[in-house]
Amino acid sequence: MIPFEEAVRIVRESSLPTGQEAVTLPEADGRVLAVDVRADMDMPPFDKSAVDGFACRMEDLPGVLNVIETVAAGQWPGKKTGPSTCIRIMTGAPMPEGADVVIQVEDIIPAGDEKIEVPRVPRKINICRKAEDIRNGTVVLFRGTLLDPQHIAVLATLGETHPMVAQRVRVAIISTGDELVEPDRKPGQSQIRNSNAWQLIAQVQRCGAISQYLGIAADAAEDIRKSILKAREGNRIILMTGGVSMGDFDHVPDILNDLKAEILFNSIAVQPGKPTLFARLPGCLVFGLPGNPVSSFIQFEMLVKPLIYNMMGHEYNVPSVWLPMAEEYRRKFADRMAWIPVRIDEEGRVVTVEYHGSAHINSLTEADGLISLPVGRKTLEKGERVHVRQI
Ligand code: AMP
Ligand code: MG
Repeated sequence: MIPFEEAVRIVRESSLPTGQEAVTLPEADGRVLAVDVRADMDMPPFDKSAVDGFACRMEDLPGVLNVIETVAAGQWPGKKTGPSTCIRIMTGAPMPEGADVVIQVEDIIPAGDEKIEVPRVPRKINICRKAEDIRNGTVVLFRGTLLDPQHIAVLATLGETHPMVAQRVRVAIISTGDELVEPDRKPGQSQIRNSNAWQLIAQVQRCGAISQYLGIAADAAEDIRKSILKAREGNRIILMTGGVSMGDFDHVPDILNDLKAEILFNSIAVQPGKPTLFARLPGCLVFGLPGNPVSSFIQFEMLVKPLIYNMMGHEYNVPSVWLPMAEEYRRKFADRMAWIPVRIDEEGRVVTVEYHGSAHINSLTEADGLISLPVGRKTLEKGERVHVRQI
């Protein structure tokens, strides 16, 4: 049994980077940028008006001004502003020469035919300066960035229509267990429906990876062996659930040994998720996740998700908030680190959700995140602040 932090480190150090590929902008969402992206122009490319209004000279204010031209966004001003003149200007239109301020439409008083009165000196100049956001030639997005819609806006602005991104990690998923039937079947006596595989497929997809589901392998060495050999083809990660603990029918460790896999760990001092195995085959990393769905979910979050991102070149920063406990929390044993599902209440306090153990399939449905207790620690006090790792 190794400490949880060591398991995290071992997995991280085993990362196998993926290649790169160019994708279209709609395909880029959720992908990891593989190269630094430099600006091919200034943004804004010219001084522009930030409002709909009238461009003029500050020295003429307050006062009555003659409107000499109208400039829409997409036009270039034909005239200059001079003493006591102004140009009607729309948001995003280039500033006319001579003008150093734009008066918002709301702040003027019409004063007859093509005349306006500006009763007060404005508080803001309402001009976006050339290059104030982005300077031509500078790196605007760095490799390793996980692309969200707001990054795609920047790529579009810079004309990067086919950004280079990391290839998606390919992940094979295998369930093991004679008691399992697929969700479309009614379980017989002593059977349950397979939930882990479907949970894992969703978890894998959320990380921008590609899942290949290989079905349920029986608790028979030959069946599991065949599934692993198939999973190896074309996949960088194999996720197996069930069959890694100490039961009479838990064959996964033996089969991996037979295949000459290097088993890097097979038990972690963590709860839930103690019987978690991690092994290396040439070009492929294998996780034996516990059969219980809560353990499988949590160990994926802790170990597999950061690995998938790391393989694609993205440093996964765990989203977490620092909030007080609504009530005290106690546990009986402290020989393992614990991850405890919690929800955040309306007052921003941390409340543990009903949780009967790692087989409690619906315990996470109301959970906002997980809190941890280190080895040796049995209690959390009411009001004590904890990191809530969001899920
Ligand atoms: P195991 O790790 O194979 O000993 O399984 C531990 C527990 O998890 C047992 O109660 C199994 O029935 C259950 N389990 C194993 N695999 C799955 C699965 N794919 N979906 C739901 N429960 C499972
Ligand atoms: Mg089993």
